[in-house]
Amino acid sequence: MPQKIIVCPKCKEQLNFIVDDSVIANSKSFPIPSVVQHKDHYLIVYLDSQCAICDIEIPLFFKSE
Ligand SMILES: [Zn+2]
Repeated sequence: MPQKIIVCPKCKEQLNFIVDDSVIANSKSFPIPSVVQHKDHYLIVYLDSQCAICDIEIPLFFKSE
């Protein structure tokens, strides 16, 4: 399973995470939005069909009622 290394856009620290490539192979639409936890915050990482990172976003959180 490929290991990904990115720089967190929120705190600017480098982090790494493992992508389960069987999930990528079974997906029918791309890019795949994926949530990565980094310390006390989360990132949304978009993965394409080659398991490459297309984009990284910092999500906002809202509570449902
Ligand atoms: Zn971070």
